Amino acid sequence: MDRDQTIIVGGGIGGLTAALLLGRSGLRVRVLERAGEFAEIGAGLQLAPNATRLLRRHGLLEDLLATAVRPRRLVAMNAVSGLRLTTVDLEQVRTRYGAPYIVMHRNDLLQVLLAHCRREPTLTLETAREVTAVGHAADHVTVTCRDGSTYHGEVLIGADGLSSTVRPLVVDDQLQPTGYVAYRGAVPVDAVDRRVALDDAVAWMGPGLHLVQYPLRRGELYNQVAVFRSDEYRQGRRDWGSPEELDRVFSAACEAVRAALPALRRDRRWPMQDRLPAARWSHGRVTLLGDAAHPMLQYLAQGACQAIEDAAALAQELARLPRAGAWPVRDVQAALGGYEGRRLVQAGRVQRTARTWGEIWHVDGLAMALRDEAFRLRRPDDLSRVDWLYGDSAA
Ligand SMILES: Cc1cc2nc3c(=O)[nH]c(=O)nc-3n(C[C@H](O)[C@H](O)[C@H](O)COP(=O)(O)OP(=O)(O)OC[C@H]3O[C@@H](n4cnc5c(N)ncnc54)[C@H](O)[C@@H]3O)c2cc1C
Repeated sequence: MDRDQTIIVGGGIGGLTAALLLGRSGLRVRVLERAGEFAEIGAGLQLAPNATRLLRRHGLLEDLLATAVRPRRLVAMNAVSGLRLTTVDLEQVRTRYGAPYIVMHRNDLLQVLLAHCRREPTLTLETAREVTAVGHAADHVTVTCRDGSTYHGEVLIGADGLSSTVRPLVVDDQLQPTGYVAYRGAVPVDAVDRRVALDDAVAWMGPGLHLVQYPLRRGELYNQVAVFRSDEYRQGRRDWGSPEELDRVFSAACEAVRAALPALRRDRRWPMQDRLPAARWSHGRVTLLGDAAHPMLQYLAQGACQAIEDAAALAQELARLPRAGAWPVRDVQAALGGYEGRRLVQAGRVQRTARTWGEIWHVDGLAMALRDEAFRLRRPDDLSRVDWLYGDSAA
């Protein structure tokens, strides 16, 4: 039986980062990606120092900075009153955590990862390979694709996102819908009626809604993410979260928010859902990373950052295994156990905190007044609440 050492299902940010780092260790890796090409949606991504520190360590940050934007501040605004609540100076963040906070187009990140992957002779990258069945035995894993192709390997990594096909081998659970929906996308910067500084990354938060805005690709594009709680969802409407409902909900927002919305892309929307933190990510020779392991709501802007942390930790653990010959299952389990030991608790905490953070963003009435007051009372240089996230405890 012809065998790969590692098979990765999914060539998104998590899958390609893992492939690259494993390939650099000299391991033979095959990536199976469902889409016809390696590509990301036309929207932005915030990458905090816990991710950029790793990307720099692995020689990727320089290439990313060719297109990424380094915003001056994170700014929290009340979406109804239009008042500023608090700011975070990102130069201070860079100094404290030793790496920059950047924002970039998702596809720019993916293409940098892909270019680096293509330089690794032990990587095989395959597109148009939708994995439909996965299985494992004591001495190997098996993956079958929709086109009938079948692969065998020593280890299987599920990096196949929120609705992972690999996850059921490890965890028996369900997606948790929230009834919130996101519209997002990047457009030419001049297409947006923007009432905030171009070098800020801004979150407008209001009752059951928010809007995030920041520049991308050297400041040529502007990214907007509008999210709201859908009454249509609660009413059980099948086509819930429609563009008409978006406009209805955001009619309660201040003028600066409403002015930005005509530039928002409405051709696709994303229902927001996550899962509860899992007690394990691995079983036998199978493991999970990124959204397949810990899908989270986006309120901490950490899903991809956590996937990058996973990839770095997993690659280090698997690199202890030999370059040739079969891998005994106990050695594989020791490596996967080491990976979980480094990542499971932290990623679960991010999942849970992201939920709470979303609740804080979307409160109304007295709770909103108290939140605003707490934000306003925060000293602008107080970063103590993100030390656990951006610090280098895990990375
Ligand atoms: C609105 C929004 C804003 C966000 N903002 C941020 C942010 O600012 N910062 C941040 O860090 N994170 C952010 N995230 C989270 C981030 O997008 C995800 O956490 C990240 O993309 C996860 O990467 P992944 O590689 O694990 O999964 P994915 O990106 O989902 O990639 C999975 C890959 O697997 C492929 N695949 C799936 N099934 C199969 C199959 N059966 N066979 C083969 N291939 C398959 C898919 O085609 C895809 O390429 C945001 C998310 C949302 C929804």
